Amino acid sequence: MVCEEFVDLITAWAEGEIDGVTEIAMLEHLAQCPDCAAYLDQIRRTTRLIGELRATESPTLTLRSRQLLREAFREAHRSDPGRG
Ligand SMILES: [Zn+2]
Repeated sequence: MVCEEFVDLITAWAEGEIDGVTEIAMLEHLAQCPDCAAYLDQIRRTTRLIGELRATESPTLTLRSRQLLREAFREAHRSDPGRG
């Protein structure tokens, strides 16, 4: 699994919509990818938002939540060489 797949599946994972095999693959990816581990930590802070979106069961809001997650992912992976 690559990071893009992981990110694509995170929303489904948060909503319990993936099977056990896929979940294991995600956990295996987490074990070897510190970036995604850090990303998941961010997701946990966003879970409250996901929960609110789930309550509405709106496809539009689901897309919005995916967009928010992708933005958070890009923030987590962004390395600024000019920093520090
Ligand atoms: Zn990754």
